[in-house]
Amino acid sequence: PHFTVAQIRQTFLDFFAKRGHTVVASSSLVPANDPTLMFTNSGMVQFKDVFLGTDQRPYKRATSVQTSLRAGGKHNDLENVGYTARHHTFFEMLGNWSFGDYFKKESIQWGWELLTKVFQLPPEKLLATVYFEDDEAYDIWTKIIGLPPERVIRIGDNKGGRYKSDNFWMMADTGPCGPSSEIFYDHGPHIAGGPPGSPDEDGDRFIEIWNHVFMQFDMQEDGSVKPLPAPCVDTGMGLERIAAILQGVHSNYEIDLFAALIQAAARETHTSDLHNPSLKVIADHIRATAFLVADGVIPSNEGRGYVQRRIIRRAIRHGYKLGQKTPFFHKLVPDLVAQMGEAYPKLREQQQRITETLKAEEERFFETLANGMEILDEALSGNRQQLAGDIAFKLHDTYGFPLDLTQDVCRERHVSVDADGFEAAMNRQKEQARAAGKFKMERALEYTGAATAFTGYHSIQEQATVL
Ligand code: ATP
Ligand code: MG
Ligand code: MG
Ligand code: MG
Repeated sequence: PHFTVAQIRQTFLDFFAKRGHTVVASSSLVPANDPTLMFTNSGMVQFKDVFLGTDQRPYKRATSVQTSLRAGGKHNDLENVGYTARHHTFFEMLGNWSFGDYFKKESIQWGWELLTKVFQLPPEKLLATVYFEDDEAYDIWTKIIGLPPERVIRIGDNKGGRYKSDNFWMMADTGPCGPSSEIFYDHGPHIAGGPPGSPDEDGDRFIEIWNHVFMQFDMQEDGSVKPLPAPCVDTGMGLERIAAILQGVHSNYEIDLFAALIQAAARETHTSDLHNPSLKVIADHIRATAFLVADGVIPSNEGRGYVQRRIIRRAIRHGYKLGQKTPFFHKLVPDLVAQMGEAYPKLREQQQRITETLKAEEERFFETLANGMEILDEALSGNRQQLAGDIAFKLHDTYGFPLDLTQDVCRERHVSVDADGFEAAMNRQKEQARAAGKFKMERALEYTGAATAFTGYHSIQEQATVL
């Protein structure tokens, strides 16, 4: 059956509500009082203290649709956007939780029931992974669910770092964590990619749709683990990924909601090829940046605000690539509100503020973007393999190009960026600024000191540094 995004949200929540789960609203993208985390990257974040036992709730089972952001921090998918069919920076995560109540068996059984009975996915297209030592989960999949053993894959702890997957989920470097079991959907042999645990697992044929984490530990700063007060369940399913399957498309970017945003991006950038990857980036980034503004994050030069700025500027640069020379990005806000305003009224309420914030950032960046791109194009002309750190730094310092934006451009042209050189240039400048600050202070003292009169700047250059 075909499900719209709105129907999937509701069906998921209803399914778990019927099984004794309290429906909890999505929390903000900015985690409350948690310095270990830049952004809410999954549904469990608002329950972190419940897992740790330092917060109590009136329920032992919960379900939610959580807005999540994976840009900056431990889970970072910024570099995947525009390149894979399945990654966004901002996405919605469907989840169900047990706080010391049910454990692996119920979690896996309900997951299977929802996918195969309610959503009616063909069981033969589903695979599961388990943590390599987790015989209990392995047995549930093979004996209770009846999945053939060749479709239940044990995934190592990845100590050797051979492949990407490790089936041990951690919210951040510290905090709740545990072994996991993931459900994958096979989109078919016409798409490149291997099954989980194989060398080409990064392809988009076998797409992970639902992670069931069996939370049992609290990771400490020194890498040791403490057991949680009680074993818990934490699951997360990407709304856009399950929507793609239920709408009979391969990529997240082809689902109803994204098709509309990509149309809007095409309209504002006058692009006729709807498959142009820059449109995906713009469609993804309008969601991330609008929700960030709605949750109080405005562009700035540090912390969360700098991630916000980086995402906006990346989107603008992709628009520029498509020929835009003036602000266009904020014009997608009404389209976003049309798609998501009903589920997230804060978008409607803050539509004007969101639009103005994005527009101001656009106007600012368009002042330097063209000149910066000229310098970058010039530097990349010829047969270069690597962009010098000095140039990347100059682009950053004078033209407002975040390093990742420069890297994004270079990657399109198969050129790497000397990130160490960038860092060194940055440190040199900081050093100079410190010296200049000292100089300024000495001069200030000269002003106040009666004995020595200010004699003026010694050179234009010196003056420039002081100012
Ligand atoms: P992947 O291996 O595909 O990057 P993940 O293992 O990093 O996914 P989890 O941390 O297990 O993802 O998150 C739970 C679920 O959230 C995933 O199974 C997937 O359905 C969804 N998800 C994760 N990252 C993204 C993303 N960047 N964009 C859209 N959905 C995502
Ligand atoms: Mg990931
Ligand atoms: Mg994964
Ligand atoms: Mg996972």
